[in-house]
Amino acid sequence: SSSRSAVIIIGAGVSGISAAKVLAENGIADLLILEASDRIGGRIRKESFGGVSVELGAGWIAGVGGKASNPVWEIAAKFGLRTCFSDYSNARYNIYDRSGKIFPSGIAADSYKKAVDSAIQRLRDLESDCAVDVPNGAELPLQVPQLIIVFLCLNAEKKVEPISTYVDFGEREFLVADERGYEYFLYKMAEDFLFTSEGRILDNRLKLNKVVRELQHSRNGVTVKTEDGFVYEANYVILSASIGVLQSDLICFRPPLPRWKTEAIEKCDVMVYTKIFLKFPYKFWPCGPDKEFFIYAHERRGYYTFWQHMENAYPGSNILVVTLTNGESKRVEAQSDAETLKEAMSVLRDIFGPEIPTATDILVPRWWNNRFQRGSYSNYPIISDNQVVNDIKAPVGRIFFTGEHTSERFNGYVHGGYLAGIDTSKDLLVEIRKYERENENKSFLL
Ligand code: FAD
Repeated sequence: SSSRSAVIIIGAGVSGISAAKVLAENGIADLLILEASDRIGGRIRKESFGGVSVELGAGWIAGVGGKASNPVWEIAAKFGLRTCFSDYSNARYNIYDRSGKIFPSGIAADSYKKAVDSAIQRLRDLESDCAVDVPNGAELPLQVPQLIIVFLCLNAEKKVEPISTYVDFGEREFLVADERGYEYFLYKMAEDFLFTSEGRILDNRLKLNKVVRELQHSRNGVTVKTEDGFVYEANYVILSASIGVLQSDLICFRPPLPRWKTEAIEKCDVMVYTKIFLKFPYKFWPCGPDKEFFIYAHERRGYYTFWQHMENAYPGSNILVVTLTNGESKRVEAQSDAETLKEAMSVLRDIFGPEIPTATDILVPRWWNNRFQRGSYSNYPIISDNQVVNDIKAPVGRIFFTGEHTSERFNGYVHGGYLAGIDTSKDLLVEIRKYERENENKSFLL
């Protein structure tokens, strides 16, 4: 079967949805969204666990309270998404060693500050030759979580912090704690241009379970082939698959992508970031807002280092979350959840003693092994310049690229994906208007 659309959008994550919305608002209603999985949202994804909604992917609205307003924060506010302020600044007082002793707060605060300072210094040292956006004299706020998590978990070799988020939008972070999930704001956005009923999208322009495997492109258009044997024709394609997917062989391009493109794609690193959820029969950890985050200091870097309790978000839920990254994420993805539970329990028994109860349930997301993701988010190396992201973003003929990895300033974030979708659609609209001017007697849809 075959049909032709003005624009096919591949992927229904935040960037695909925002791209489609901009096109629809600008009169391009003849669009088709092909999504590989059985739901919209992509890396914004909730799951029921232990009686509440937990976020397997994006959890925070990062960058709030600054001079400019984070658009995702605005949309979330408009739709009444429930959020909780995350105060990371106290994490430094909650550092446990292997025998369960809390580091004396003075020392902990001092080494914590040193750790952050040296991470900042690293960024500054490298700044001159790699254009990292560190404002002069700006103190990086101690609550910047990713920097700290990554500093503690990895050898800080990389530009780990897309600092523009904090500079532009502010230093505060809010955890989404809403039973409808972070993805609720996406459904609300989709409602503006897709037909929905009782919270479900019933518009046949959104097709789920459509895994795109081939893009055949020419001056005249793009032929899109899906795994289930369908063929779709389009004047233009917007591709929002993640950087990890672009690095994999899931999608075959005919003709192949040019070298400048594939080389740029290879240059962007993929970060794996895993939140493991553990449900307990009762809580045995100290609670209160200043105890939300705690750190386990183990000689092996990144070994079950960063913990969070969910009592602020969901009182009485008795859930702990531990964050792993890169190597540790991949290691844990490859083993059974029972094995992971054993490791996590042994860490918790180091900290809180042998009497604590074993978790009754565990949830281990596998972003690395998910062939529609292949990682958690893009991480441009500190030595890369804007050319890399510009090349990754640049269209190839009639194929346009979007996704968080195409956002020069906000890659790695939900708002990066959201703004990238808008940018790419605007670029495509310019192209379409140009085509229409040059071919006045031909309809765009031909
Ligand atoms: P995606 O959401 O990946 O959307 C792309 C879509 O394309 C997917 O739905 C995928 O299924 C589909 N697709 C892929 N290949 C194909 C194909 N061949 N055919 C058809 N469809 C295809 N951001 C924050 O702002 N705050 C956070 O706290 C935060 N934490 C995070 C924690 C984790 C564990 C992860 C994984 C991410 C986190 N992020 C966070 C990042 C944020 O989730 C992403 O930046 C954003 O959701 C990416 O949106 P996107 O549209 O670019 O990509």
